[in-house]
Amino acid sequence: MKLLTFRHNGNTYIGAICEGGGKVLKIAEVGLNFNSMQVLIQNIMDSELELIRTATKTSEIFNTLPISDIEFLAPIRYPARDIICLGLNYADHIEEAARFNSKKFGINMPKAVYFSKRVHESVAPFGKIPRHSDICDSLDYEAELALVISKNARNVAAKDAADYIFGYTIINDITARNVQTAHKQWYFGKSLDGFCPMGPCIATVDEIGVEPALKIQSYVNGELRQNSNTANMIYKIPQIIEELSSAMTLQAGTIIALGTPAGVGMGFNPPKFLKSGDVITCKIEAIGEISNTVE
Ligand code: MG
Repeated sequence: MKLLTFRHNGNTYIGAICEGGGKVLKIAEVGLNFNSMQVLIQNIMDSELELIRTATKTSEIFNTLPISDIEFLAPIRYPARDIICLGLNYADHIEEAARFNSKKFGINMPKAVYFSKRVHESVAPFGKIPRHSDICDSLDYEAELALVISKNARNVAAKDAADYIFGYTIINDITARNVQTAHKQWYFGKSLDGFCPMGPCIATVDEIGVEPALKIQSYVNGELRQNSNTANMIYKIPQIIEELSSAMTLQAGTIIALGTPAGVGMGFNPPKFLKSGDVITCKIEAIGEISNTVE
């Protein structure tokens, strides 16, 4: 099932995409009322999720909207906490990053690289990315699969990880490379306002599983840049959840961005950084695509 946040006639709703993909069902149609996806994730019962799932398969008996009539918003517009990110989680991206700046990225890490990304407001799936030209001279994109935690997770064994995943979405981990590399920590260069396009939906875990093997791609102005598969991630989802939850609670609604494959702007010689008017499209099989224009 694919859940989404959308605007229609000036109002914001939580909904689900109906079977076939052409129609959207407001969850209020099945008697549910959550005022944001974050609240839904924190409170919804399995039986209520099942109610929505069933309705998407029998949508002819409900009031639905043509998908072309809605405006997609980021599924989680205001993440309750900073996004947890994996750095250097695809081998080919480690190589290109080290070629760009061996001092900052050319480190052999025996363990996963975790960092965080602050998101004031997630950018809509087809929204604008601010250029930040006052401090950024090297704006870059990173298509990433991101998971959303379903319930508070502490001491979760890898084999039980599926019980703690609500679903998956696409994130473009927009980065100001000069800001990222000017500081020892990546936090600031990853966290400027408008640096987290997200969406177009959350595909629930039952559709994708815990070891997803999904085609992941990005395009800039129609030119294929990243082209890989999420099966190529070095650190896998069950191990990541086990490791993090062994000593910190991952609260319901926590987003974990799982790293990006090769083909980002800094990977080219000379680098191909983003400029105003560029359109970046990130696609992941079974979830959909987001497409954002640089202001
Ligand atoms: Mg990233």
